Amino acid sequence: MQKITIAIDGYSSCGKSTLAKSLAQKLGYNYIDTGAMYRAVAVYALQNNLILKNNKILVNELILQLDKVEVSFSFNTITKTTETLLNGVNVDKEIRTMQVNDIVSKISSIKEVREKMVALQREMGKNKAVVLDGRDVGTNVFPDAELKLFMTADYDVRAQRRLDELQSKGQYFTHDEVKQNLMTRDYDDTHRKENPLIKAKDAITLDNTDLNKEQQIEYVLKLVSEMKLLTTIEEN
Ligand code: C5P
Repeated sequence: MQKITIAIDGYSSCGKSTLAKSLAQKLGYNYIDTGAMYRAVAVYALQNNLILKNNKILVNELILQLDKVEVSFSFNTITKTTETLLNGVNVDKEIRTMQVNDIVSKISSIKEVREKMVALQREMGKNKAVVLDGRDVGTNVFPDAELKLFMTADYDVRAQRRLDELQSKGQYFTHDEVKQNLMTRDYDDTHRKENPLIKAKDAITLDNTDLNKEQQIEYVLKLVSEMKLLTTIEEN
């Protein structure tokens, strides 16, 4: 069976990871959460006092310490989930805090951080049969990906989804606080110099404001089978 690379980019909290995870599961593909990698670097910076009280990042110091930052994924056969590891330690909980949300876009705009993470992502995905989600996967990490999606959704819907996720983990914020964080992150991600979030020319837009998870999966699986058919015809 033809193996392809699926790149899912888009704005914050559009359900990219949820879609990417279930797609990977259904197709028997690997899943790479590229955002989790930038979040892990943010956790390193927090743990090593590289973030000042006003959220200012000690950028030069972080760059100097980058060779001490090892980000990897490990599949837990008991929970059947992929864990994000920072220097060998599971940081799944630490990467999903509001504190990390507040600094991660600034961390991800550092050229040296991006270079390191992109190299890792290319290595992890080099054998295809992979679904990656992030901000620059279809434009920069794997510009030759066979299927590219660009996800978006209404701000209030996205804020509510993120609020529910934070609450389920015992973290309580207001709708406005979460919405403001999403807007700031989207602004930073679309305006940064290094590989900003933009829709790849050949990406298909998926606005999931009014779509449930099953409808999204059904839609994308259809695209995948059409895509596989197309690549097989082109090869013959
Ligand atoms: O997808 P997630 O919200 O976990 O990503 C966290 C942050 O990591 C984003 O706001 C963005 O700044 C950064 N990111 C990125 N490039 C990617 C994935 C994520 O810059 N490919």
